[in-house]
Amino acid sequence: MNDVQQDPCAHCEEMMQPYLDHILTEAERVEAESHLDECDWCRRRYRFEESLRVYVRQAADEPMPEELKRKLAALRIPLN
Ligand SMILES: [Zn+2]
Repeated sequence: MNDVQQDPCAHCEEMMQPYLDHILTEAERVEAESHLDECDWCRRRYRFEESLRVYVRQAADEPMPEELKRKLAALRIPLN
């Protein structure tokens, strides 16, 4: 009974952008949140992405220093 065992973290990662855009269906949102409840790693990923978005939104008003841009880019850890 272990066919198509999708990595729950990979699935959660897929839902992150639509989650933050608030375009997930209710069922998907509940699924993502229940995973976030038990997965520290994904919770941190979501939180980081969310804070990044807030920052980017604020930074749209003023130019971001190149050095800071590089630091932010370095923080984005590829999953694979
Ligand atoms: Zn996870």
